[in-house]
Amino acid sequence: MSVKEEDIEKSDLTDEVVNLCKRRGFIFPSGEIYGGFRSTYDYGPLGVLMLQNVKTLWWKSMVQMRDDVVGIDCAILSAPKIWEASGHLRTFSDPLVDCKKCHERFRADQIGKACPNCGSEELTSPRDFNLMFKTYAGPVESDSTVAYLRPETAQGMFVNFLNVLNTSRKKLPFGIAQIGKSFRNEITPGNFVFRTREFEQMEMEYFVEPQTAGEYFNYWVEQRYNWYLDLGIGKEMLRIRAHEKKELSHYSDQTSDIEFKFPWGFGELEGIANRTDYDLKAHSNASGTDLRYFDPINNEKYFPYVIEPAAGATRTMMAFLIAAYCVDDVAGEKRTLLKLHPKLAPYKVAILPLSKKEPLTDLAKSVLNSLRPHYMCDYDDSQSIGKRYRRQDEIGTPICVTVDFDSLDDNMVTLRDRDTLSQIRIKIDSILDEVNKKLDF
Ligand code: ATP
Repeated sequence: MSVKEEDIEKSDLTDEVVNLCKRRGFIFPSGEIYGGFRSTYDYGPLGVLMLQNVKTLWWKSMVQMRDDVVGIDCAILSAPKIWEASGHLRTFSDPLVDCKKCHERFRADQIGKACPNCGSEELTSPRDFNLMFKTYAGPVESDSTVAYLRPETAQGMFVNFLNVLNTSRKKLPFGIAQIGKSFRNEITPGNFVFRTREFEQMEMEYFVEPQTAGEYFNYWVEQRYNWYLDLGIGKEMLRIRAHEKKELSHYSDQTSDIEFKFPWGFGELEGIANRTDYDLKAHSNASGTDLRYFDPINNEKYFPYVIEPAAGATRTMMAFLIAAYCVDDVAGEKRTLLKLHPKLAPYKVAILPLSKKEPLTDLAKSVLNSLRPHYMCDYDDSQSIGKRYRRQDEIGTPICVTVDFDSLDDNMVTLRDRDTLSQIRIKIDSILDEVNKKLDF
């Protein structure tokens, strides 16, 4: 019987996932030996594999499987002119309040009337705090050398619109996709990697004829919602929330968020926005470069509208971890497992020889070598087999291959399924076929 998230104390679920992430090597607090550093995190051997899977799966569905989307990878350090034109220097801010008693700072829109730290009701009036990280390019610190770390990847797609259009020879509708780091000087980061100051985004700008924007907006909301479902997040854990007019960003005409039920409540995984022609127009005006699209059929020039699905890779990884976290009862013993979709799992297969000695290890290594060109595999010959199974369950490995002493005689191994615990004995010769079948990619 599996115990669902609802049954685990809600406040504990985040702690348990954070704990597992650290214990098993998914995510570590950054600079931990110096006491950590302001809500920054490092991705360990398993975290880097899983995050890579999240990004590759997004790229596959958004770029690889489509005729109408191409990729790009832009600089993180960027010119102030970009952010001036985009409106970020003026408006990309959150309302900041100080507690006059304990001097903690908060986002006014995230707290009630009192300070969450000391309870005092003596707060300053809210003032705009710009979230962009500012630095200097080169050895001189002056107004002319100011640079910004990008707070979103999207602007890279707008300022390269003509470069991509001319080189890819795409016609509307078409999109430009990018995955990469973004930086926001969040006033109150927290909830593990849900809100950090350095994070990864997966964004796509889909350029369309203005009159078709509504239709494509609905199309992308549906496409993106299905992506999360297909990767194993249950419908009951997801919802689509349309923004009210007053919530909309300065560039948006319509936005819907795809939200996930985190232990503390629903939170955004991705926003799908109709950015209209705001950005292309703004960059045309500011740069003097005409960024209009030439429509060869009607022989006219116009600014396309843009539908943007903007997701967070690191935040989404956390949602997948929370959705997959389970505690089972196996023969009276508690078993913790990550029921990750196999496509997301860091390791697809673990090879576990029953002994550390030859000739069993030789055979186990040959099994490993036949699988590792195709799948990320783990090889573990330490501790008891029970402990090794428990470790693989906890890191979400869908298949364990046990190589035992009989394997030396019958050339067969045992395949163990993470979720059902069923075990089947198969010929080593057919192992790749069997694993392919079980993973069903
Ligand atoms: P929020 O309302 O949570 O601050 P946002 O609406 O400002 O998010 P967007 O600008 O739409 O976020 O960015 C797209 C996605 O990038 C978000 O849905 C989220 O997944 C991710 N993201 C944004 N800010 C952060 C952050 N500080 N830490 C981690 N991920 C983030």
